[in-house]
Amino acid sequence: MPQIADILIPLALDTAYSYAVPAGLTLDEGDVVQVPLGPREIVGVVWGVEERASGGNLRPVSGRIEVAPLSEPLRRLVDWLARYTLAPKGSALAMALRLPDETARTETMRVGVRSAGKPPSRPTAARDKVLAVAADGGVRGKSALAKEAGVSLSVVDGLIDDGALESVALLPEPVALPPDPDFPRETPLSEAQDAAARKMIAAFDPTPSSAEGRGFGATILLEGVTGSGKTEVYFEAVAECVRRGRQALVLMPEIALTAQFLDRFAARFGVRPATWHSGVGGRRRERLRAGVASGEVSVVVGARSALFLPFTDLGLIVVDEEHETAYKQEDGVHYHARDMAVVRGRLEGCPVVLASATPSIESRVNAQRGRYGHIVLPERFGGRRLPDITAIDMRLDKPERGRFLSPPMVAAVKKTVADGEQALLFLNRRGYAPLTLCSACGHRYQCRNCSTWLVEHRFRKALVCHHCGYTERKPEACVECGAFDHLTPCGPGVERIAEEAAALFPDKRIIVLSSDFPGGTERLRQELEAVAAGECDIVIGTQLVAKGHNFPHLTLVGVLDADIGLTSGDPRAAERTFQLLQQVTGRAGRGERPGRALVQTYQPDHPVIAALLSGEAERFYEEEIGAREAAGLPPFGRLAALIVSAAEREMAEAHGQAMARIADPPAGIMVLGPAEAPLALVRGRYRFRLLVKTDRGIDIQGYLRDWLARSPKPRGSTKVTIDVDPQSF
Ligand code: ADP
Ligand code: ZN
Repeated sequence: MPQIADILIPLALDTAYSYAVPAGLTLDEGDVVQVPLGPREIVGVVWGVEERASGGNLRPVSGRIEVAPLSEPLRRLVDWLARYTLAPKGSALAMALRLPDETARTETMRVGVRSAGKPPSRPTAARDKVLAVAADGGVRGKSALAKEAGVSLSVVDGLIDDGALESVALLPEPVALPPDPDFPRETPLSEAQDAAARKMIAAFDPTPSSAEGRGFGATILLEGVTGSGKTEVYFEAVAECVRRGRQALVLMPEIALTAQFLDRFAARFGVRPATWHSGVGGRRRERLRAGVASGEVSVVVGARSALFLPFTDLGLIVVDEEHETAYKQEDGVHYHARDMAVVRGRLEGCPVVLASATPSIESRVNAQRGRYGHIVLPERFGGRRLPDITAIDMRLDKPERGRFLSPPMVAAVKKTVADGEQALLFLNRRGYAPLTLCSACGHRYQCRNCSTWLVEHRFRKALVCHHCGYTERKPEACVECGAFDHLTPCGPGVERIAEEAAALFPDKRIIVLSSDFPGGTERLRQELEAVAAGECDIVIGTQLVAKGHNFPHLTLVGVLDADIGLTSGDPRAAERTFQLLQQVTGRAGRGERPGRALVQTYQPDHPVIAALLSGEAERFYEEEIGAREAAGLPPFGRLAALIVSAAEREMAEAHGQAMARIADPPAGIMVLGPAEAPLALVRGRYRFRLLVKTDRGIDIQGYLRDWLARSPKPRGSTKVTIDVDPQSF
């Protein structure tokens, strides 16, 4: 009987389309196929197959594509992702299907050339050069051979046509060497680490009668203070997973994938792991994907998109730095990789480990309620102490005019570098100055596409919008009043701190780390290695230095403006600030010598700062969880944000109002707005926001779907984006 296949196409479509399966082709769910769509051919995935007497006049599937099929759990993950985020199912599929482009696919089969052992019919000087290189009988890629001989590729091609060189298929190099779970350790685990690792491994085989009780064995929160050696603990879980012949995935925030981490992995497993991040391109990407699907690759360490790789037998997922905001994708499909990791773990029937020194409120609550297991490492590895944290009250210890380092901070840095140790100055602000003002007329330089101030970047001699990237040259005279020499930078960014530090410590080596510096991620990784190797005295950085790095020479952390994040109206401000400050101060004293941290603040009594200073993380969590519960905020209630945007302000507002009028929320659901979004103008689009707040246990997606179905269709440039569980609101 002929088959009918429902094919899901990785475009913003909500349903699968039916196609006839031509005789001679048998398809299974998950197969990747090519199908006609309108006038073109497109890749899709078989979502369902049925046998039917007649396919009617359905168009036929063009053929199967020989790449790894999507496994059942992965297809269910796509379904889940679409249902949860309200993204079109096809858009969710696109995350799992990132196929290489055409060139990458044809390249997958690598071909090399070698000497055919006979002279060319027509020798030339260039041809002789090539044959001289090839005389060793070795197999080389065509362009490698041309390059080595110093001739153009056409010479090599000519020799192939001539029969003097022959083509041979190259055996593919293994995409990753197998990690050895029993590679000898240099130093043993501490007692605390060993106990934690054993507890975690026990959770691989949950038994109803286990001491930890119900729920343990699915998801585990591994909470260990900075420097407690969490990595080594979850490495043991990875090792056990590999020993059992299953696959493990370790998710990390992108920038944490440094050589330092890869070396630690190699020290534990004998080889570096296969890595998956935005920098892995073309052929390597597809080979890795194939290796994961065939089971040849047993461990992948990757950024959030690795979550959608087609593992055949996933036995463990680790989410390192689980509290990181970088796990939330804020464009396209709005998903949180930590939450999706938990879902994938459930679908695959494998344990998930969430590791952090500063867990998210969500994970903390889940652990407290017994939904997650909870393993705690309260002390640093090797008897090292957590840094002493002291406040500098900026109301009393004022910096000099036009400066940002207070006298006690300057003194502490001076002493640290004089002792041959490293100091880190942390300010979570890129650029030179967050605001430029004309002191003659008062004009403030604003982005023309966004409701934001332009940030001066002195290295680039430009004023830059941090939201849309709009850049203009810093003018010599004010564009408003024409006054010369009146443009005044207001407030500091890291570049300005670097200038101040250079003036104070002219003979010290200073490295500035900021995500917008030229050279991209690769250069940043190199600079991070240099810091770790002790090749500089003073590090000045934005939040990217706070994330999981190990800088053994660092003994002083100076936080320049602890209050920055506290003033926003965002209910997550306290959590974020606490996590960031705890993480960055936790970089101090991880090596031989003890560390300390100094925190410049105008509000030393603020609960977040007070909890940080006293080292009472527990107090912070208790208060914050209590406050969330009282306000019915996540995880005690649910939230979704609808952003209505349009090129014209009135259009956006009118559509938002039209939606609000028919929102008609049932009991337990509140719809707020529309109000101007916190960023009211971004990239030339005006934004209004509707907030949906529900009690726990209410099907927020069901309500949203129904409401959207009843809402008028957005017209013209108007667009509605949905963010379930928004991270800032
Ligand atoms: P965390 O991730 O909890 O902040 P790490 O895993 O980075 O901590 O470990 C902190 C430091 O302690 C690192 O320098 C690491 O190499 C070292 N360390 C941790 N456990 C061990 C161990 N068992 N043997 C040797 N060094 C260890
Ligand atoms: Zn802008």
